[in-house]
Amino acid sequence: MIFSNELICPKCKGKLKFYGHITRNVKYGGGKTDTILLERYICMKCKATHRKIPKTLFAFKHYERKIILGFLSGEFTIFNLEYEDYPCEATIQKWFIEYKQSLPM
Ligand SMILES: [Zn+2]
Repeated sequence: MIFSNELICPKCKGKLKFYGHITRNVKYGGGKTDTILLERYICMKCKATHRKIPKTLFAFKHYERKIILGFLSGEFTIFNLEYEDYPCEATIQKWFIEYKQSLPM
């Protein structure tokens, strides 16, 4: 996973080369969904592939960043009427667990 235009392998610091596109289904507020194209790169040194993730998404997540952050901050709840297509409670709990695990000790 890479987030910037620095095309350097996060595993070995090798040079990355464009390797095509891959689709990602994204879930937005209000029940809207879309399929977007993510750039894919291959490391010329270790041959690992990496996807370039836009700032509006988190790695390995289909919901857009502001929805996940909205649930983590308490702005959104499953009872929030403005967001009728909310993620299931198990998904929200998983976000909280992953968030707590990512906090520095
Ligand atoms: Zn590499």
